[in-house]
Amino acid sequence: MRSRVLSGMRPTGALHLGHYHGALKNWVRLQAQYDCFFFVADWHALTTHYEEREVMERYVYDMVIDWLAAGLDPEQSTIFIQSRLPEHAELFTLLSMGTPLGWLERVPTYKDQMDKLKDRDLATYGFLGYPLLQAADILIYKAAYVPVGEDQASHVELTREVARRFNHLYGRSSDFEARAAVALAKLSKDDARYFEKQRKTFGETGAAEAVAKAEGLLKKAAGTIEGWSTDDTDLLTGHLRGSGKAILVEPQALHTEVLRLPGLDGTKMSKSYGNAILMRDDPAVVTKKVRGMTTDPARVRRTDPGDPEKCPVWQFHKVYSDDATQAWVVKGCKTAGIGCLDCKQPVIDAIVAEQQPWRERAEKYLANPKQVHWIAEMGTERARTIARHTMKDVRDAMGLNY
Ligand code: SF4
Repeated sequence: MRSRVLSGMRPTGALHLGHYHGALKNWVRLQAQYDCFFFVADWHALTTHYEEREVMERYVYDMVIDWLAAGLDPEQSTIFIQSRLPEHAELFTLLSMGTPLGWLERVPTYKDQMDKLKDRDLATYGFLGYPLLQAADILIYKAAYVPVGEDQASHVELTREVARRFNHLYGRSSDFEARAAVALAKLSKDDARYFEKQRKTFGETGAAEAVAKAEGLLKKAAGTIEGWSTDDTDLLTGHLRGSGKAILVEPQALHTEVLRLPGLDGTKMSKSYGNAILMRDDPAVVTKKVRGMTTDPARVRRTDPGDPEKCPVWQFHKVYSDDATQAWVVKGCKTAGIGCLDCKQPVIDAIVAEQQPWRERAEKYLANPKQVHWIAEMGTERARTIARHTMKDVRDAMGLNY
């Protein structure tokens, strides 16, 4: 069974190249390796843009079209819409009961975003709570991994803390040890001994390696022992960590290499800064935008030498050009051997070539919006089955099963 990966994106309408290189390209790669769940985080968009109801629907489906255009395959990945699954809100509410306020106030992005988005009133309960909503989004699918950039690592850490606290509060029923013993007996004698040895080592030394070894054994058991259930895995995971039954699974951050593509002016690419190239911009627009890009200010005249490190076009070459072209840029720029428009042409060609398959795939979906709705609908129903299952466990554990 493939491990589950979960990630989401706020709907901001048509995506740009920064979204593609910063996340989407990675998603397309991950779907071949993992059981991927990708969701449109429309509630999250409301935490900062709660007044923008007119554009939300269009933003949601424009974004899904770009996901599909980039190569997300609805047969391989589960693509769904957060607000269609009230289970996320239910888990968020239940988790909020036991989550200390300080945990949310100290999330680094909270103050950071407050400072950055000064034009908005973000002194809201929804904005403070959004990392907890994100925790619910992840935990409800028992995701093993969450792909993250550095600024999101603290959110995964919060999610892990929330899961740990939940399991600690609600995972240990009075018959827990007896049920764990029954699960342990399903292992061979040698494996059970090995498992207990790792558990003891972890209890005495806290060695992560011991947990990894024991969990590896449980993974093997899940694939080989007839009658083994996820409940057995959860019970023994709780027994191993001394926490109780792992009703909610602590996810790991999946650090993957992503390329940062700045905007046309060298700052962060963003539609609101007017410095973005959209994934579906047509070639004439791409050409115009790149030709108009800021360059090293020292190159006032064609004969002035420049420094690629001071030029945003060079950041594009780092993403799009091979070694030979990069060497041509560095030499040509520093010696004024090439003009800036010469330098920009390979970038234009590479972007237009990269966009070609996206454009073709997008055209198909733009001509048939019902198919896009259907894909999101199918994914949402697939997600709902798992979300409901988790919520049943959560309600049972919290004594809400009346
Ligand atoms: S030659 Fe290229 S790298 Fe140098 S300043 Fe012009 S656009 Fe930038």
